Amino acid sequence: MVIPTPVEVQSRAVTITTTVSAQGIERRVREILARMPAGVTVLAATKDRHPDEIRAAIRAGIRAIGENYVQEAERKRPSVPEPATWHLIGRLQKNKARRALAVFDWLQTLDSLPLAERLERLLAASGRRLPVLVQVNVGREPQKAGVPPEELADFVSRVAALPHLEVRGLMAIPPAPSRPEDSRPYFRAMRRLFEGLKAEGIPGVRLDVLSMGMSADWEIAVEEGATMVRLGTALFGPRG
Ligand SMILES: *Cc1c(COP(=O)(O)O)cnc(C)c1O
Repeated sequence: MVIPTPVEVQSRAVTITTTVSAQGIERRVREILARMPAGVTVLAATKDRHPDEIRAAIRAGIRAIGENYVQEAERKRPSVPEPATWHLIGRLQKNKARRALAVFDWLQTLDSLPLAERLERLLAASGRRLPVLVQVNVGREPQKAGVPPEELADFVSRVAALPHLEVRGLMAIPPAPSRPEDSRPYFRAMRRLFEGLKAEGIPGVRLDVLSMGMSADWEIAVEEGATMVRLGTALFGPRG
């Protein structure tokens, strides 16, 4: 008979914990996906989540992963072999543009022309096109990233002139709501901006993604026309 060493016992305990929480994640993901109307994509916001948790979400039907930091995604993506599209949903500094392109398929937080030009140069060298969302500072919060609403049309026209950046839509992080309803005016304003931009018919721009709504307010976002919601705690539970 083999008496397990303390290390073995510990690693078995960890394995069991992972399995249990992975089942919880799969159940929550399936429940949420079943409630999502057709045409709305659920992106799993996976900051601070272990690759095993991300894999559980993909097993249950998630196809879009959102990470906030280049370094964290570099660390985790090699451990998640399942097919999924990885989106950068946090701020990108110009000096990390090259590394971001190596690990992400989409950028959801474009809000500066110097960054767009840097990405264009890097992409042109490899002949690849990057789908991007323009982040809008819809709540006009001084500390938050994003293009101010009144500058949006001009900004999108300038990015559209860069042949390797493919503007696919808009993204917003409105002020944190005390009640879900607090977010509705911001979501409504985003939908109006989105439709207004479409009506401008800027050449080379295909606007089909409106990324807004998080765990606290995604139902309101969907009512107001979101085509993508970004969910963390609703899928994975509270962050440890
Ligand atoms: C963390 C995060 C989310 C998800 O937040 P939850 O409240 O956990 O659903 C969505 N979008 C961005 C940009 C995030 O950083």
